Amino acid sequence: MRNTFVPRRFRQVIDHEKCQRCKRCVMGCGFGALEFQGRVVPSAKNECVACHYCVNVCPEEAITVVENPLKYRWHEVWQPDIIMQATRQAETGGVLLSGMGNDRPWGVIWDHLCLDACQVTNPSIDPLREPMELRTFLGRKPESVEVEHGPNGEIRARTPIPPQLVLETPVIFAPMSFGSISLNAQKALAMAAKDLGIYWSTGEGGLHKDLYPYADRAIVQCASGRFGVHEEYLRAGAAVEIKIGQGAKPGIGGHLPGRKVTTAIAETRGIPEGTEALSPAPHHDIYSIEDLRQLIWALKEATEFRVPVSVKIAAVHNVAAIASGIVRAGADIIYIDGFRGGTGAAPTMIRNHLGIPIEVAIAAVDTRLRKEGIRNQCSIIAAGSIRNSADLAKAIALGADACAIATAALIALGCHLCQQCHTGNCSWGITTQRPELTRRLDPAWGAERVANLIHAWTEELKEILGALGVNAIESLRGSRDRLRAVFLDEKTREILDVKAAGE
Ligand code: SF4
Ligand code: SF4
Repeated sequence: MRNTFVPRRFRQVIDHEKCQRCKRCVMGCGFGALEFQGRVVPSAKNECVACHYCVNVCPEEAITVVENPLKYRWHEVWQPDIIMQATRQAETGGVLLSGMGNDRPWGVIWDHLCLDACQVTNPSIDPLREPMELRTFLGRKPESVEVEHGPNGEIRARTPIPPQLVLETPVIFAPMSFGSISLNAQKALAMAAKDLGIYWSTGEGGLHKDLYPYADRAIVQCASGRFGVHEEYLRAGAAVEIKIGQGAKPGIGGHLPGRKVTTAIAETRGIPEGTEALSPAPHHDIYSIEDLRQLIWALKEATEFRVPVSVKIAAVHNVAAIASGIVRAGADIIYIDGFRGGTGAAPTMIRNHLGIPIEVAIAAVDTRLRKEGIRNQCSIIAAGSIRNSADLAKAIALGADACAIATAALIALGCHLCQQCHTGNCSWGITTQRPELTRRLDPAWGAERVANLIHAWTEELKEILGALGVNAIESLRGSRDRLRAVFLDEKTREILDVKAAGE
């Protein structure tokens, strides 16, 4: 008898006629959900999570994973996942944990926004024949720029320009620490960022010594735990980021369990091996905007004012006022993470019920900074459910300068969104530190796939710009008149500053 009343969500179906008994599926499953007893069978604990690794390694297409047909009786209020959560807690007495982003059916605002397209009087542009400018500069901009001609007739700025991150396309990889993901996964992102001319981020876990060659394309994070933060680290990065919050778990700290703190992670983070890596909920030296200002300027001094300083926050109820304070405190970039942002591990109730969608947060922050006349003083990076190039274009039209992606990049590395990252058993070698699993992910292979994804999005973004009749991403930024809303309530449309379709 199983030692839980929580029904299985998935089960494996094996076609024993086709099966050649090679055992690849048995050995491949990071969750131990299959075993071999003369033939492949679900294991006694059978914790199939639908990561689909077995399906992908089977040379005979002899295995598939299906939803368990056993269902709770329908109840409008007591939905199956809510019953299962209560049952699980009755058995464990613990806080429920989840990996990946919020999966509650709140609705996705991106899916209710339509982009404009040129017809007849405002001709579109063919991106195959006309150049399209996607290069994006992230950082504080001067109020105005005086230019002069150089000795060869080139135009150059006479006004000093504060340090900028230069992106060849308006995408960066979101912070994912060594610890939350494997070193091979992080290396794949670093290699892809270098290839694409964009940036990756260390997250809060420090910079492993093998990744210093990719530091010129790294945003190095300084979070409340200060893991791996030292002078060499700060000076190595292309930008420094103070992490205040994360969309998947706003208002709480982080926790990497001791069993995941391997020798390499311990060395990189500067903590003893096998100890719990706990990031406090607040920074213990930041209790006001003035405190934040001190840390921003301390980091600018530590990096000799060569690199921009970013502040990452979760999208929460009064995000616009918070963003205004952050800009006035001296941040060059503000990174806003919506409530659908992914995570290696978060308490389920926090992940599913705290924070607000990134779509409204972008619009609210952009509007406020424009009204206060300080929009030029910082760039906005938006994150937390950017799923494709259309979401990217809509985010920029709402007011973002660039977007950060995590889940989409992990999907490129093989992730099938089983949401079990917190268990550390990722069969794809992404969110695990088990050597037999991490070695499955070849960084060069992964980098190529991630780069392919961003190349594809870049081409699609050029097509969207062409359809809109503009030839530079700059012309789309904050152009909310190029968006229309379908099936959105009036107040949300007002905050987004987007008209209804047909208007
Ligand atoms: S991987 Fe496919 S062929 Fe090999 S044992 Fe599993 S089901 Fe059979
Ligand atoms: S990274 Fe791995 S464990 Fe996490 S959702 Fe993707 S496949 Fe599942």
